[in-house]
Amino acid sequence: MHRIYLKSGKEESLKRYHPWVFSGAISYIDGTPEEGELVDIYTAKGNFIARGHYQIGSIAVRILTFHEDEEIDVDFWKRKLQIAFEMRQAIGLCTRPDHSTYRLVHGEGDNLPGLVIDIYGQTAVMQAHSVGMHCCRKQIADALLEVMKESIKHIYYKSETTLPYKADLGAENGFLIGGSQENVALEYGLKFHIDWAKGQKTGFFVDQRENRALLERYACGRDVLNMFCYTGGFSVYALRGGAHLVHSVDSSAKAIELTNQNARLNFPDDQRHTAYAEDAFKFLDQMEDGHYDLIILDPPAFAKHRDALRNALQGYRKLNVKALEKIRSGGILFTFSCSQAVSKEQFRTSIFTAAAMTGRSVRILHQLTQPADHPVNIYHPEGEYLKGLVLYVE
Ligand code: SAH
Repeated sequence: MHRIYLKSGKEESLKRYHPWVFSGAISYIDGTPEEGELVDIYTAKGNFIARGHYQIGSIAVRILTFHEDEEIDVDFWKRKLQIAFEMRQAIGLCTRPDHSTYRLVHGEGDNLPGLVIDIYGQTAVMQAHSVGMHCCRKQIADALLEVMKESIKHIYYKSETTLPYKADLGAENGFLIGGSQENVALEYGLKFHIDWAKGQKTGFFVDQRENRALLERYACGRDVLNMFCYTGGFSVYALRGGAHLVHSVDSSAKAIELTNQNARLNFPDDQRHTAYAEDAFKFLDQMEDGHYDLIILDPPAFAKHRDALRNALQGYRKLNVKALEKIRSGGILFTFSCSQAVSKEQFRTSIFTAAAMTGRSVRILHQLTQPADHPVNIYHPEGEYLKGLVLYVE
């Protein structure tokens, strides 16, 4: 195995179990590992400290183990997946008859950097974000079947757009195991069509589940605007919560089609719901004052990288000003950011600025984050990416 030697003192973060080695921390590489190959990391003094997948870029290694005697083989994947599965069982996500969607593996949060696995009924959708995980996909799929036993029958691999572009792997999306067309999954008793083949991410935003459930509690009798609705998750919960009307908006016509499908799947012939394929900013500009008293703003990540941070914060501010200006008095705003590059404090400051610009009296009712099946590795605080505020606007 190739060895990577760190610069003196650069082992400190690994001693604290941080799962990445940055390229700037490397003193020299013994040999020329291919992207995705396993490498061993040594301190400047020549002591083994960790083993992981090598990659080209600012993150040079994603750590899989801190134990020299731990082989990365099928048994390794089985052990890790077993731990992840037991955790989801422990938090009650795989035991309810009215619920069949959850995240089984959340990258660094489950000590499997570069790997995501979402479960939709009997189908697992697996996504590699590193060449190393891509190379191990077959082993991981075999291990997954063994760990999950009868509970899954199909594994769909979806990494065409998540792997480093330059690696040019020609990864194709498709079933590694099985081949189900049955794509309706249950989330807390609600049905959703999951389009893993063509949809965003693994087909559904599993991470908003608990926030959608919270919204349901506030929806009764309200006029709801679900902005950036994608599959209509928040809309369907609002309908079940007894909303007076629900309007869903997304700029993508495909998303609107999915939203309508999901609304109909749960509430056929319900006249309370309408979906609009429109740009969010335009819709907010044209909407009348006081039309809605429950608004959800769940935009895509405005900052994918640190460089885009300033523009992203401005984007959040502008969007929230528009909603805060026009929401009915006594209204509730659910506002989110899923940009990893934006911290909780920065997001809160941009919402604070937006509120101050409108001059309205605003209280924070809830501070929201990602759910328990998207855990944050305590040694990797960067893993906390979803931020939300629930505001009461006087
Ligand atoms: N709230 C959703 C997830 C939102 S993902 C859920 O719970 O599942 C972000 C969505 O924003 C995508 O569907 C994307 O099509 C949409 N979008 C991106 N830019 C937009 C814009 N300018 N106006 C309206 N929608 C937009």
